[in-house]
Amino acid sequence: MFSITEDTSPGIHDMLLSACDEQRYALLGHVGYHRNCVDNLSDAMQQAGVSLPEIPSPFNVFENVSIGEGGQLSIEAPVVGAGQSITMKAELDVLVVLSSCPMDLALTNGPDKRSKPVQVQRIK
Ligand SMILES: [Zn+2]
Repeated sequence: MFSITEDTSPGIHDMLLSACDEQRYALLGHVGYHRNCVDNLSDAMQQAGVSLPEIPSPFNVFENVSIGEGGQLSIEAPVVGAGQSITMKAELDVLVVLSSCPMDLALTNGPDKRSKPVQVQRIK
């Protein structure tokens, strides 16, 4: 559906982890509701008039996931730097929804565990 036409980052992205959800935060010890990517993506799709029974596994831009010897996945701090970017070309008509991951319990967003601003441009 997409071609990556340019990537000025070190090129580390993830397609293994599902979007974070309430259950993941609970497993990490959070008590009570925590905003999460599944809800962000669901809300964005609902605003676009699309309803799916579940959120498809996302393309996790800049997420750094390693695979251990036993096959376990480990979230590492991202290696992307400020101002670096990825450019993707849609090869067919698509609906793109985004979530700037609110994860603050794992290294998803770096050692400070804070979401970073994301800028998205649509180029025709
Ligand atoms: Zn997330």
